[in-house]
Amino acid sequence: MKSEFEFIETIRRRYSLLKIGDDCAVLPKDSKTDLVISTDLLIEDIDFRLDWAKPNFIGHKAAAVSMSDVAAMGAKPVWAMLSIGVPHKIWKTDFVEKFYDGYFRLTKKFFVEIVGGDISKTPDKIVIDSIVAGEVIRGKAILRSTARCGDLIYVTGSLGGAAAGLTLLENGVRYDAAEKIWQRNLLLKQLSPLPQIYAAQYLTEKNAATAMIDLSDGLSSDLAHLCRASKVGAEIFADKIPIHKNLRAIGKSLDEKLDYALNGGEDFELLFTVNPKKKFQFENELKNLNFSHIGEMTANVEIIELILDEKRLILEPKGFRHF
Ligand code: ADP
Ligand code: MG
Repeated sequence: MKSEFEFIETIRRRYSLLKIGDDCAVLPKDSKTDLVISTDLLIEDIDFRLDWAKPNFIGHKAAAVSMSDVAAMGAKPVWAMLSIGVPHKIWKTDFVEKFYDGYFRLTKKFFVEIVGGDISKTPDKIVIDSIVAGEVIRGKAILRSTARCGDLIYVTGSLGGAAAGLTLLENGVRYDAAEKIWQRNLLLKQLSPLPQIYAAQYLTEKNAATAMIDLSDGLSSDLAHLCRASKVGAEIFADKIPIHKNLRAIGKSLDEKLDYALNGGEDFELLFTVNPKKKFQFENELKNLNFSHIGEMTANVEIIELILDEKRLILEPKGFRHF
C-alpha cells in the first residue's frame, strides 16, 4: 500500500463504502436535517509530543481537529465523544484531567456537548480518538466533490503559521518559555488551532460555496483532495496566498515562506470554491469574513498549477502524509 489515500480508496471500492471520502460522513437525520460525523485519531509521538504540548493543549487540539472537519461540511458541531488510552505511568498523573479540561473548554465555547467516550490502558503511548457530530440543513452539506471548472478558490485566514510553529518546537522553543510575541503566535497556531466554525456556517447560510475542505494536511495536498473528488484541476497565484504575518520573522526567503504556506499542515483554515457568477454577491455579503481569493478551478483534471513570477509550475501535493 503506497499511501493512506490509496488505502481509503481501496476499501471504498472493495466494500462499496460510498459515504467515505469527505471530511465527514453525511447521514440523513430527519426531514429537515442531515447529521455529519467525523473521527480523528491522535497518537503520542506521531501527532503530539508530551514535551512539546501541555495536556490542555492536546485536549484542545483533539477537539479542534474534529470540529474543523464538521466545519468543512458547512455544518454546526453539536455532540462529541472522546476516547483515550493511556499507559499506567500517565494514569497516575493529572494528565487525563487536564486533557479533558482542554477538550471541554473548546467544545463548550461552541456549545458542543460531550455525550460519551471510552477509556482504557495502553502498554506505552497515549492514543486519543475524538468524534464530533453536527447538523446541517438537509442537502446543504458542502462537499469536496462539487467544485466546477471555472469556480474561484478561496481560503480563510492565513497559512503556514502552524507549520512554522512546529519548526519552532523542533528547534527547542516551548510555549511557556517563548519570549517573543511572534513565537507565541506561531506556537498557538500549532498547539491550539481555532476551527472555523462560524465562517463555515455563514458560507452555508449564504449558499456561497460550491465545495469545501479544511486545511489539515496543507494547501497543496488538500487542494489536490478537492480536485480529485471534484474531477477538476486548479491554478493558484503565489502572490495571492495569504502567508501568516509572523512568518516574516522565521522564514529566510519568500520561497521558504511560500513553502510553509503551500505545504505546511494543520492551519485548520477552510479552502472553498465559489461560482464566478456569484463573486461580487459573495464578497459583498461576506465582507466581514477574513478570506482571500487565491485562484481558479480548471479543466486540467487533478493537475494543480502555481503561477509564480509569471512562471507556471506544476504544484505537487507535498503536505502531511501519515505513511
Ligand atoms: P481528514 O483529513 O479530513 O480528517 P482523512 O484524510 O483522515 O480526512 O480521511 C479522508 C476520508 O477517509 C474520510 O471520509 C474518512 O472518514 C475516511 N477514512 C480515513 N481512514 C479510514 C479508515 N481507516 N476506514 C474507513 N474510512 C476511513
Ligand atoms: Mg478534513
